[in-house]
Amino acid sequence: MKLIDRRVRSLAKIMLAACSLAAIAVASSAQAQKRQVAIAIHGGAGVIERAKLSAEREAAIRKDLEAAVRAGYTELTAGKSSIEAVTAAVVLLENSPYFNAGKGAVFTHDGIHELDAAIMDGARRRAGAIAGVRRIKNPIVLAKGVMEQSNHVMLAGSGAESFAKSIGISLVQPGYFRTTERWEQLQQAKRLEKLQPRAELPNRSYFGTVGAVALDEAGNLAAATSTGGMTNKRWGRIGDAPVIGAGTFADLNCAVSATGHGEFFIRSVVAHDICAKSNYLKQTVAEAANTVINQELKTLGGEGGVITIDRTGKIAMPFNSLGMYRASIDVDGKVSVEIF
Ligand code: ASP
Repeated sequence: MKLIDRRVRSLAKIMLAACSLAAIAVASSAQAQKRQVAIAIHGGAGVIERAKLSAEREAAIRKDLEAAVRAGYTELTAGKSSIEAVTAAVVLLENSPYFNAGKGAVFTHDGIHELDAAIMDGARRRAGAIAGVRRIKNPIVLAKGVMEQSNHVMLAGSGAESFAKSIGISLVQPGYFRTTERWEQLQQAKRLEKLQPRAELPNRSYFGTVGAVALDEAGNLAAATSTGGMTNKRWGRIGDAPVIGAGTFADLNCAVSATGHGEFFIRSVVAHDICAKSNYLKQTVAEAANTVINQELKTLGGEGGVITIDRTGKIAMPFNSLGMYRASIDVDGKVSVEIF
């Protein structure tokens, strides 16, 4: 009887050990499968005065930022690529009237809208950009179309719109982009211009560009930026957003989307400079971004900010302006939405 007892006890011990081993194996394979995905978005940098931002408007802006970052994150957790994630996030921001991209874009001097956008796939160094389009509801979708369905990187104006039709992207009436607030901004900019014809555009003129950067579960990075440019712009002015390396850039280690006074970002090739500094000087992407935005660009008088992500999913969002609308979901799933 004792012998049987002992055998039963050892069998139970063996089974218990086997169960714990199995549990450890399940846990570590879950760990291995843990999705290291992350995303950050911006809705523009510039003069955001706390006192002038009503509680309702702030709540509405925060709501749209959160919806956009969650839309991108949903793509990532469903196993989609970082390109799909940044596109999904930017489309939502373009559709919101609160940002200077798509609906709600700023007016040109002639009272129309001319939109710029770019997207870049860091792993394969593919890129697509469009500039000065007037009738594309979601410019980022067309930029993605240029990247995926043409042999080119940048298309402009009516040619870009013909390409859009050729790949089945329908055009909207120009009136679609109009909001009263942006119209008032144009009138104000014109009044100021009359008083000081050679003055720099006031920095409220460009506030609201949108962008996104993301890391997908395959470890690939992407960046996307979309904008109406600057209020009262003329002569076919194109900003930094669609210029690969200036307002938008991604490689194997780093992805950047910028917002701010575009001329400064083009001259300093900001987005590429951040990634190059990180790659060549062995700085973290966050350190490089901080140096470029808060030292180099600031010294030159360039106002604005960037959102960046590295290949481990670490996000940095430095800006040298009063505020920058921004949101992120990090590798631990922590959601943050900030303005100041
Ligand atoms: N960077 C954009 C441009 O200069 C404007 C902005 O970021 O708000 O066109």
